[in-house]
Amino acid sequence: MLNVPAQAFPAPGSQQRAALGGRSKVPLKPGRSLMDWTRLTKSGKDLAGLKGQLIKVTEEELAKHSKKDDCWICIRGLVYNITPYMEYHPGGEDELMRAAGRDGTDLFDQVHRWVNYESMLKECLVGRMTLKPVAVTTEACCAISEEKRLLNGMLPKIKVLDSSSKDLTPSYEWFQTDYLVTVVIYTKQKGINSEMVIVDHQDGKLRVDIILRNYSYLLHIELSYAVQEDIAGLYYRKCKLISKTEVTHDTKLFCLMLPQSTHLQVPVGQHIFLKQIIAGTEIVKPYTPVSCSLKSDFKEPSHHDSTHLILMIKIYPNGLFTPELDHLQIGDCISVSNSEGSFKKSQVQTLEDLFLLAAGTGFTPMVKLLNYVLTNVCSLRIAKLLFFNKTEDDILWRSQLEELALQDKRFEVQFILSEPTKEWMGKQGKISSSLLSELVKRSKKDSKTLICVCGPALFTEQGIRFLQDLGYSKEEIHSFTA
Ligand code: FAD
Ligand code: NAP
Repeated sequence: MLNVPAQAFPAPGSQQRAALGGRSKVPLKPGRSLMDWTRLTKSGKDLAGLKGQLIKVTEEELAKHSKKDDCWICIRGLVYNITPYMEYHPGGEDELMRAAGRDGTDLFDQVHRWVNYESMLKECLVGRMTLKPVAVTTEACCAISEEKRLLNGMLPKIKVLDSSSKDLTPSYEWFQTDYLVTVVIYTKQKGINSEMVIVDHQDGKLRVDIILRNYSYLLHIELSYAVQEDIAGLYYRKCKLISKTEVTHDTKLFCLMLPQSTHLQVPVGQHIFLKQIIAGTEIVKPYTPVSCSLKSDFKEPSHHDSTHLILMIKIYPNGLFTPELDHLQIGDCISVSNSEGSFKKSQVQTLEDLFLLAAGTGFTPMVKLLNYVLTNVCSLRIAKLLFFNKTEDDILWRSQLEELALQDKRFEVQFILSEPTKEWMGKQGKISSSLLSELVKRSKKDSKTLICVCGPALFTEQGIRFLQDLGYSKEEIHSFTA
């Protein structure tokens, strides 16, 4: 479910999570912290108790749910089942019970201006009120106008794509208050996360791109009124360059800020396209976003990941695209597409051995992949990067890689140089069968293995061929391509 404030349109679920209300805090039981609540909301449990359906709630119905073990409240026209939240509320159960079965908007606005309850309670959403419920009166409530609680835009579920794949096609509904748009997507696919949804807002229209099972489902919602259906190719939005920092003598980190109304989180192993008009011609090139570092304590994607893109780009003085890119000044804008790519997280879910063969900027898809596997794949025993470069000066994030290898025993890096100086003590040469048979070895017989290859086209082709000759199956090899 997406909750999108109509004013600012921050990323769904990315809002800072704050405790609900409460001037006076009560001691919470162990296992009832905000973090525990966040974990529970992400567990997939049916917290609203309606198996994912949203309903229209009458005042009478709301009033029936006024007990501690069955407690609904209404905030700004939306009804939440807060029964599961009771024990997690820092202000205590009694404070929440003051709004049980009623409209708690004014009460909560007065006690503590809730800015984040939509995000915190989104899994508890029951539906919307059919009529204005009776509000809990407080001295401060008279400033809230009736209009503020009115809802509009509620539409029946709509089939988004063709009707032939009836069971699998997601459907959706949406509704809007004066400052919040909620889009509910119904799908049978499990494990939906924010990387699968891209949201853009422009000229009063909400554009939601949902990526499910290799299909992209597009919603165009004209806020408050019509809903249109549309299928389109790559969608570009203008992003602002906010920093440009050197990584090596020829490679830079470009940090782009997405428009405020865009939520775009590029999944691991995927790339975006940048578009520029060069000498009157539209030129498009693919780039793979990286994370800001290879921190060993990397956790879930942060808010930053859906508001910014970090690109590690080598500038070729004779190149067509990159010199123009290099001329961009801080504050300039560039068009950025939606993400694409064939890599699936399921390829690494139960992985034991991961080998990464990267040449030059072919390192870029390995960055997020490493962050992901080292943090999320419990079965992982080895993550080994074979990094091919011409000279030592060309090695991207060398010290970070060496640091990571010291911090995480599962991670190992081997630098292989094709044009080393005499002083180089490490490996030298090019990708070859003998080199791969020496450096790519399963941790145990039949270990679940994946080998990812990325670099110049010929490097990748050769790498795949050598690996197959060494007995690795097609399923065990992934190459990143556009
Ligand atoms: P080009 O004009 O393509 O030239 C590149 C070099 O080749 C120059 O040195 C040029 O002189 C030389 N050259 C061009 N044509 C010829 C020719 N006919 N014969 C001989 N030499 C020639 N790059 C990154 O830096 N970071 C990334 O994250 C990244 N991600 C990518 C993801 C994917 C899926 C793919 C496919 C590529 C990715 N790339 C990435 C590469 C990127 O898309 C561009 O190819 C790269 O930036 C070069 O673009 P350019 O137009 O500046 O250079
Ligand atoms: P580079 O500095 O030219 O080369 C890096 C290393 O690869 C060097 O050791 C080089 O050896 C070796 N190498 C280059 N071509 C080779 C070949 N044909 N066979 C064997 N080894 C070869 O690399 P770069 O300029 O950073 O280029 C990186 C490439 O990766 C670009 O082509 C880019 O398009 C691609 N890339 C692809 C993706 C993706 O997702 N598909 C992402 C990022 C980058 P030598 O000294 O012998 O040349």
